[in-house]
Amino acid sequence: MPTVTLIPGDGIGPSITEATLRILEAAGADIQWEPQLAGMAAVKAHGDPIPDVTLDSIKRNKLALKGPLETPVGEGFRSINVALRKTFDLYANVRPAYSMVPGLRYQGLDMVMVRENTEGLYVGVEHYIKIGDDPRAAAESIAIITRAGSERVVRYAFEYAVRHGRKKVTLVHKANILKFSQGLFLDVGRKVAKEFEGKVEFQERIVDAMAMDLVLHPERFDVIVTTNLFGDILSDQISGLVGGLGLAPGANIGVNGAIFEAVHGTAPDLVGKNAANPAALLLAACMLLDHLGDHDRARRIRAALEGTIKDNRTVTRDLGGTATTTEFSDAIIARL
Ligand code: NAD
Repeated sequence: MPTVTLIPGDGIGPSITEATLRILEAAGADIQWEPQLAGMAAVKAHGDPIPDVTLDSIKRNKLALKGPLETPVGEGFRSINVALRKTFDLYANVRPAYSMVPGLRYQGLDMVMVRENTEGLYVGVEHYIKIGDDPRAAAESIAIITRAGSERVVRYAFEYAVRHGRKKVTLVHKANILKFSQGLFLDVGRKVAKEFEGKVEFQERIVDAMAMDLVLHPERFDVIVTTNLFGDILSDQISGLVGGLGLAPGANIGVNGAIFEAVHGTAPDLVGKNAANPAALLLAACMLLDHLGDHDRARRIRAALEGTIKDNRTVTRDLGGTATTTEFSDAIIARL
């Protein structure tokens, strides 16, 4: 039985975690959970939003399911995301999106964004340039793209496509303007694509055209791979096409571990009201099951969730209903 670190998180985190665990248990998932603290809950207990005991647990298990965390305001605290990304070298952020909600503008969408998570403009190499008396006359942020970093994330996208029976990988770039950094990403992507010729179709898109295509013809896309900043923006755009962040799971795949999470935050307005939608965390747990090779159980849980949402009688307020978190979860369990 695999052991997985469980971080319920802050705000609505404990409530959606409890709902997710009940559904997993009803589906017969065979996982040993190791609960750990992070976020404000960890600041209260350990004075650190990402204590070593939590990092050690993930290091041991190499797998974690994580609820939303409140980022403590003020200096002196280390950044949770930076600590996790660095410790586990989480290079691929995987965000699947598929249509489940009836009545939305788009139906039948099913795509996966693979975003490079460690390089590009987000490496934090920035400074001001003083000119004359003005210490902040200009600012410079440097995007760093490496051959190795590009290769591992593009390869991950292609291998993901093969593993999940997907047909096409679209590489999104801006190499027409950023000829060096984006050019390197594109160049490496083309080389990796050659290895998968005949198995997975390869397509290239310039990011601005991609933003338009995603609105006009989102059904044309399957797996998408891109650099950090473009992936950050496009992944939220894509979640908007299928009903928003309340249904958006994410996986952070690393060299030293993998962390599955809901993409949304702690929803302070819903805390204590039993009103939060557990679907994003539940879908993240399904990604974890897939990662463990338990595809059949993941498929059954997704089908029960999808059925409950399409039935539209027992859904939470964000999906247009009046059900509580508990009632919504009970309806999913009944379908299982
Ligand atoms: P948020 O995602 O918490 O809330 C935005 C809106 O979405 C709110 O109206 C909220 O009620 C709604 N919402 C979010 N999750 C929902 C759910 N499961 N069911 C129903 N409605 C839901 O974003 P925010 O208000 O900008 O951030 C609040 C806190 O969360 C901040 O402290 C922020 O730092 C943190 N945050 C954490 C993460 C993370 O840990 N992954 C991500 C984003 C924000």
